[in-house]
Amino acid sequence: MKGLSAKNHFMCDAKNNPLFEVNFSIRAKCSTNWIVSVEPSIYKRLFDDSGLYFEFSRFKFDNFFGVKQCKHCRRFGHTTKWCPRAKDVLCDHCGCDHPTASCKEVSCINCKESNQRTGSNFDFKHKPFDRLNCESFHKQKANLVRLTDYGAP
Ligand SMILES: [Zn+2]
Ligand SMILES: [Zn+2]
Ligand SMILES: [Zn+2]
Repeated sequence: MKGLSAKNHFMCDAKNNPLFEVNFSIRAKCSTNWIVSVEPSIYKRLFDDSGLYFEFSRFKFDNFFGVKQCKHCRRFGHTTKWCPRAKDVLCDHCGCDHPTASCKEVSCINCKESNQRTGSNFDFKHKPFDRLNCESFHKQKANLVRLTDYGAP
C-alpha cells in the first residue's frame, strides 16, 4: 500500500489516506496478481489516464471478477471448502452424479440446471469451467458487475 500511495498520488485523499485496499493475491506462473479494491471516485481515473506505478515499473491492471466456483461440484457461489456435496463422488468431467468413466459427453451442470430451473435456453455442451462459452458464468459475472459501484459514468 505504501508503494502504491507513493507513486500514485491520486490514489490517496488530501490527507494522504489511501482510497484503496489490498485484498489478496493470487500466484501466477512467474508473477503474482494482487486484488485491490478502489473507491468509486478513483476507479475511472485509474482507467482513463495515469496508469499504475510501483517503484520503477508500471503495473498492468484490469478488472477482476471474483465469481466463486466450486472445483468439486462446479456450482457457483461457493468454494471447495464450503461445498455442501464435499462427501459425494461426482464426475470429473461434468460434475454430475455418475462415475467419470461412464461420462458420455462434455456438459455444463450449471447451464443444464439453469435450463431446467429457469427455462433458459443455454447451450450446455461445454465444460463447467469454460468461461468463454458458459452463459451461466456470464450471468454470474453480470450480477457481480450490477452489484458493484463503479462510480458515476
Ligand atoms: Zn461445491
Ligand atoms: Zn459426467
Ligand atoms: Zn455453462
